[in-house]
Amino acid sequence: MSLQSETFIEKAPLERYIAPEMPSLIGMSRAELADALGQAGVPEAQRKMRVQQLWHWIYFRGFTTFDDMTSVSKELRAELAKRFTLARPEVVAEQISIDGTRKWLLRLPGDPDSKLPHDVECVYIPDTERGTLCVSSQVGCTLTCSFCHTGTQRLVRNLTAGEIAGQIMVARDRMGDWPGGTRPTDGVVPSGDRCVTNVVMMGMGEPLYNLDAVRDALLIVSDGDGLGISKRRITLSTSGVIPNIERAGNEIGCMLAVSLHAVRDELRNELVPLNRKYPIKELMEACRNYPGASNAKRITFEYVMLKGVNDSIEDAKALVRLLKGIHAKINLIPFNPWPGTKYECSDWDQIEKFSQVVFDAGYASPVRTPRGRDILAACGQLKSATEKLSARERMALRAMAMTDE
Ligand code: SAH
Ligand code: SF4
Repeated sequence: MSLQSETFIEKAPLERYIAPEMPSLIGMSRAELADALGQAGVPEAQRKMRVQQLWHWIYFRGFTTFDDMTSVSKELRAELAKRFTLARPEVVAEQISIDGTRKWLLRLPGDPDSKLPHDVECVYIPDTERGTLCVSSQVGCTLTCSFCHTGTQRLVRNLTAGEIAGQIMVARDRMGDWPGGTRPTDGVVPSGDRCVTNVVMMGMGEPLYNLDAVRDALLIVSDGDGLGISKRRITLSTSGVIPNIERAGNEIGCMLAVSLHAVRDELRNELVPLNRKYPIKELMEACRNYPGASNAKRITFEYVMLKGVNDSIEDAKALVRLLKGIHAKINLIPFNPWPGTKYECSDWDQIEKFSQVVFDAGYASPVRTPRGRDILAACGQLKSATEKLSARERMALRAMAMTDE
């Protein structure tokens, strides 16, 4: 079957990008919003109440302008509009896969000296009863896992809390997923009343290398008066940044996924080079101590299936031994190929045999069905469009951006 996908927004040329001039309120905590209100002249005694109102319009209702915030006085709306926006990351392309997966390319301000913007991808994966949004935490990734496309990208920057929470808001905007909104008729959406019901920090980047912004964003995402996605439905995936695992548990309290991929240090050093710094034994110890881990709140261990590399029955047995005593789930991920990779996905019957060993040991071992492969939206396939350009194209763009001034 030949794969086909549709593109709903055509990609805008990079050189047309204009960075926003005013700061956006998106991503601000309640305390930061109170400061912003102070700048707009709101007396201290009123700020708490005003924050409450703004919070509702911004994060619960999803308003993109101050105009219709009826509980806020006209004067204050005008003062706010002079100083701030409610801008989310700019959507420059939208694609929808034949399986209903949607991918958005988002453009963000770049370094002040380079003029070129950055971009990141965000992916929506609908199912019958849930809709999962796969969110990025960084442009690119400083880690260089050998099987991951994002890890080959040179340009890296941390996303801000607003750019992270903004991805959920963009998805809600694009799918009418705010109270009273109109749900899409093109493509699959879950049967309940919300399109985005779950969030996974599994897009581009290592979330525990950008913990402060990820924490601030996820506290907004899980806020019951705001975006309202429960912490049980938010999963943070890490390649194993041990010192920050405990902090994530204490400061965010969401579900944890660990990208294990190998059971021996020698092989994991090659697949996930961070293992040289934080080896398997210590990683397992950190997982045992993850705050809040319990039978009902298990840690997911991700294991990418690489043909002839980590997929033997011996590996499966060693995996089961390694996880003994940890409240664990195992998620087998068929390797998603990308141009230039040296790896291949394990054969299907090998994945099944591997999965059987894990299952017989008492673990549910779902094999993650690859989604959105036709639009390069599957795990590990994300890479920014700027990076896909050749060096010559990048230079030409930079020259154009300079002469525009
Ligand atoms: N940096 C974090 C989160 C992003 S990656 C981490 O590594 O956990 C999300 C998941 O996709 C990780 O388990 C990662 O190892 C996996 N992954 C990366 N490249 C992949 C590929 N080409 N095929 C399948 N899974 C991949
Ligand atoms: Fe970074 Fe995760 Fe990819 Fe490794 S797998 S390079 S940590 S995004």
